[in-house]
Amino acid sequence: MVIQLSEEKAQAEAEIEMLKKNISVRSAEVANKQHLEGVKKIAKLDAERRRLSGLVWKKLLGPTALAQMKLDLTTQTYDDLEGVKKITKLNAERQRLRGLNKMEHEDSYKRVLEPKYKCLLFDVDDTLYPLSSGISAQCTKNIIDYMIEKLGIDETKVPEMCISLYKEYGTTMAGLRAIGYDFDYDDYHSFVHGKLPYELLNHDPVLRNLLRSLPVRKVIFSNANEAHVAKVLSRLGLEDCFDDIICFETLNSTNNDNKSNVESPRSLIVCKPFEEAYEQAFKIANINPQKTLFFDDSVRNLQTAKLTGLHTVWVGASHRTKGIDNALESIHNMKEALPELWEDVKPDIRYSEKTAIEVRV
Ligand SMILES: [Mg+2]
Repeated sequence: MVIQLSEEKAQAEAEIEMLKKNISVRSAEVANKQHLEGVKKIAKLDAERRRLSGLVWKKLLGPTALAQMKLDLTTQTYDDLEGVKKITKLNAERQRLRGLNKMEHEDSYKRVLEPKYKCLLFDVDDTLYPLSSGISAQCTKNIIDYMIEKLGIDETKVPEMCISLYKEYGTTMAGLRAIGYDFDYDDYHSFVHGKLPYELLNHDPVLRNLLRSLPVRKVIFSNANEAHVAKVLSRLGLEDCFDDIICFETLNSTNNDNKSNVESPRSLIVCKPFEEAYEQAFKIANINPQKTLFFDDSVRNLQTAKLTGLHTVWVGASHRTKGIDNALESIHNMKEALPELWEDVKPDIRYSEKTAIEVRV
């Protein structure tokens, strides 16, 4: 009897447990169903909220305003993109033009800073005035007279000797000194130049204007002595047209003491056309021959000058010749023959307003 009661109890307890499980599952299913229904309700409410919100904006702005707003936003975005492209392209072009402009500016600046000629070098006699003036013929006569009267040379030998010394030593004076004649340089110059008919030379306003319109350094380079050069420039009205003067006294001692020149292979007197004279002149006057144009009436002076690096102009000639760069029948033809001298000008160089000639002696 006891055993039967225990079995019935156990069965009852199992049935109770089963009922509990069934109740839990059902509760979970109900809860889940309720949750899904809640989610659906929330989604429905959100949709309704958005609908109502749209209605409110339409009510406030109206359909036209909304359409314009949309168009503006679209257009603005499109324009911005196109604008970026345009700006990028413009920046690239601007950079390219800047580079070209910079290169051009640098080239121009270089050209301006470095003109072809920084100096013009001028002989005096038969260059700044024509051979036809008669000055040179009278000068030759005076030299012959000096050789006869002062040095006692045979009158019959003097003309030929005068020419041969000139050819061999650059000037007759240099030749006389080189072959042993001893005389005072000042006395020689005074005799030869002192009696010259300077009245044959007149003011030359044409040449003066040409020289003054050239804003580049101008230097005299003559074998003659200082007094003669000054007299010629004065007679021509060109005293204030040159920045510097290289003459006999510049290259040679005035007291006849030429110990410094004893090593010269050709002459005790330093003069054109010998390279030694050019080299000394370049050092004294700080001349760069590569940047200098030299005007002279003597072919041999010019040919030697060319060897030193100078650019050359043969004055008094109608045609060029070997070893010379240019030819002018007259110094007055400078501008027609060499227009680049007026074009190749450094803007910030101004003509020297010196009122007196600066002579290097
Ligand atoms: Mg001359």
